[in-house]
Formats: sequence, C-alpha cells, structure tokens
Amino acid sequence: MLNASLKQLATQLLQRKISSVELTKEFLKHIKTLNQELNAFITLNEEMSLAQAQAADNMIAAGEAHPLTGIPVAQKDIFCAKEWLTTCGSKMLSNFISPYDATVIERFNQVGAVNIGKTNMDEFAMGSSNETSYYGPVKNPWDSLAVPGGSSGGSACAIAARMAPAATGTDTGGSIRQPAALCGISGIKPTYGLVSRYGMIAFASSLDQAGPMAKSAEDLALLLNVMAGFDTRDSTSIQREPEDYAHDLEKPLGQLRIGLPREYFAKGMSNDVASAVEAAIAEYRKLGATIVEISLPNARLSIPVYYVLAPAEASSNLSRFDGVRYGYRAEQYTDLEDMYKKTRAQGFGAEVKRRILIGTYVLSHGYYDAYYLQAQKLRRLIANDFTDAFKQCDVIMGPTTPAVAFNLGEKSSDPIQMYLSDIYTSAANLAGLPAMSIPVGFGDKNRPVGLHIIGNYFREAQMLNITHRYQQVTDWHLRVPAGLLEV
Ligand code: GLN
Repeated sequence: MLNASLKQLATQLLQRKISSVELTKEFLKHIKTLNQELNAFITLNEEMSLAQAQAADNMIAAGEAHPLTGIPVAQKDIFCAKEWLTTCGSKMLSNFISPYDATVIERFNQVGAVNIGKTNMDEFAMGSSNETSYYGPVKNPWDSLAVPGGSSGGSACAIAARMAPAATGTDTGGSIRQPAALCGISGIKPTYGLVSRYGMIAFASSLDQAGPMAKSAEDLALLLNVMAGFDTRDSTSIQREPEDYAHDLEKPLGQLRIGLPREYFAKGMSNDVASAVEAAIAEYRKLGATIVEISLPNARLSIPVYYVLAPAEASSNLSRFDGVRYGYRAEQYTDLEDMYKKTRAQGFGAEVKRRILIGTYVLSHGYYDAYYLQAQKLRRLIANDFTDAFKQCDVIMGPTTPAVAFNLGEKSSDPIQMYLSDIYTSAANLAGLPAMSIPVGFGDKNRPVGLHIIGNYFREAQMLNITHRYQQVTDWHLRVPAGLLEV
C-alpha cells in the first residue's frame, strides 16, 4: 500500500479492499517509524487526520467518491489549514493555529482527501536545503548525510520515504523542483496564477506558485486536477476553462520538439548529472521526439534578478509579522517600537533577516532605480527569451540542479553557493512558466538526478503527458531508498 500509485489506492478504496481509516493509519504508522530520523513533518494530528478519513469512508459508502477521496496528502506547512498549527517553518508562527483554510486545503477537503500532516520547510520558504527551518533540517531518505533540497524538503522527503503518497509544495524559485530532483520524486510548478495563493503564506507574491509533488506524472495530474482553478480571493488567479490534466496522459509524443538550451549544457553542470540527463533525452529520442538547439541568452541573469526581486517582495510581505495580531511576540519590551524590534529579532532566523535587509535596501530611495527597476527590466528580457524559444520547440529540457544533493552543513554558511542551487529553476518563475522535475537516474554517491522540463504557458497537460510516457518505459520513479519499506 505504501508504494501504490494514487490510482491503485483509489481503486482499493472504491472496491472497499481497504478503508481510508485503515490506509491513513498505515501511513501514520510508517511516519512514526521514520519521522524522528528524517524530520519531514512539523505537525501530525492523528485525531484530525482520522476524522477526515472517517468522513471520506462515509463519502465512498454514499457513492460520492472523487479520484482522491480517502487518500492521504501531506501539506506543506506554508498552507493555512483550519485548526492546524501552521508555522511556515518559523518561530514567528510557532503558536499560530490557523482560523481558516487556504484555497488549496479547501479544495483537497472538498474532494475528501485526508490531511496526513504538515511538512517541514525552510523558514518562510527561503532556502534550498531545509536547513533554515526553525524545526531543524530534514534528511534526504537516499542518504542521511545529504540535504533533501528546499524549501519543500519535508514534502519531497515524505514522498521519497513513502510516508505519504502525495504532497503539496510551493515554488518561488525552485522549491518544488529542486527538492523533487534531490529526493528522486516528481513535482510540477504550474503556470503562475493557475493555483490559488489564497491562504498560502506569501514569500514573493509575483513568483510564488503552489503545485503537487508525488511519485509519478500520473499522480501529479490527479493532484493538479484538484489544486488548479480560478479563485476570486486571489487577485492574480487566472480565469480559464478547467482542464482534465489526466486526460492526455497516454497520448503518443507525436511531433514533439525538445529544445535544449545551449547555455544549460555548457559549463556548470556536473558530469554525473549531465550523463543522467543526456540518457533521459536519448530515451525521448527513442520515443520519437526531435531535438533542437535553442538559446536563452539572458538565463544566466536569473539568479541575480531573482535575488533582487524575491527579497524585495519578501521584505514587504513579511512586514505583517509584528507581534501585534498573531504569531510570536517577545516577552519583554519597553514600548511598542521595542516590542516590534524584539519580536522580529527573536522571531525570524538569519536567512529571513538577510532577505528583509536586502529587500529593504533594493527598494530604498536612491537604490530602487539601480537595483529593483533594473531587475524588473531584466525579468522581461528573461521572459522574452522563452517566448522566442517556444517558436522553435514545444518544451525545454535540461538538468533541474547543477549537482546531486549536497551534504548537510556543506553550504549553510555560504549563501551565494546556496543560491546557485536554483540556477536552472528560477527563470521559469520569473517568466511565470510551468516547469517540472522528474527522476532520471542516480549520480555521485548514488544520489538522485532530476530532469527539468519547462513548458509554454498552460501546457501542463502536455508536460504531464510526455513525462508519463517516459515513466512508462523507465522505472526511476518507482525506486525506493534501500531499507525504508522493510522497517
Ligand atoms: N531556493 C530559493 C530561495 O531560497 C527558492 C525558494 C522557493 O522557491 N521558495 O529563495
């Protein structure tokens, strides 16, 4: 059961071979065995999860089942979930019980999915290794010396270790795709605006996008069917006809043109990652795809641009955490201003403070033109590169990360090295394009390698189709870290 696909689980539930309560208990038991070591979950609430499972069993009995009814889903702790502790990986929200549901949570609740627990993450989603979490780092299930990636590292770890069959993540510069790659699982960041940001704690609002994480493209399609949709409570939510992302999964690749950016295959990528990615592209050739060389001349600017714009937006978004209305408040202070200062000094970790300082600086009078405005102009050029590239190809492929998972502690004292983890992923956020990562092999120290696929706007169905076809002829997505299922 722990290793089953969502479709298999749904069939078992529908045929009453297992109840949702039994299934939920099975995953909770597996979590209990592994979580102390892996630290993938910040909050578990057996009682609430089992109550949802019972309600799901009632839905199934009443003939009201949806494809995800009764299926446990791990929720990144960035999503507000009613009556659940919602920390966003921060001390600042260490006492925050959400009074309401994020739209994403609400949509899962409506179809009768079970919230199996809230997953660990970098503080306010700022990080690439999960080491900035106030609740301690998550370990990579493939190698306990390695980071799981971040910021959705808890979700990626939970899937890889089979502690949950599905999870949510959010991606501002790579936080779904990078941990998916480092943990050997699949994840998709949809087109900006496809999934509602309502109730998703804001980091950089023009870049933040939620998406599913799971073992396979097929599972991602079923999850995206629930997550995607217009929401009047999010002003950047896009109003368009709903799509069935599972509809085209089996379609042959046809005349698929894969663009390989010259710039991504130059220097920077490690050999082990390069060979796994090249083998995956060779597999696509066998499936009938044609390869075209493309150019993304401004892609090299995406890290500097991202690290001006994301902190700028973060500095504004995080000003709400002031100790007044909710969240942490310093215990001792002299007056209101002192309360603000002590609360923020004590409630935020070092990386979050660094971002607030950088963001405030680039937005300040006298530096706005030199940094923020320039970065906005470059953002446009980066997006234009993709518009040009998609005249020659249908999807763009490359590595998700420059190297396999690094060791815990290896980069935590060097922010620039850490920031470079997202060198291939952040451009898609700057352009608002959908992008995903799927496992395509193992590299150095037997750690997983991810293939990165960027699609044109709203081409999620096509991306899931071509990754599903790849997963039908390969088995990387079915590999489980040694020993984890026997415990
Ligand atoms: N690693 C990037 C950062 O630290 C991206 C994080 C994310 O996508 N949330 O900002």
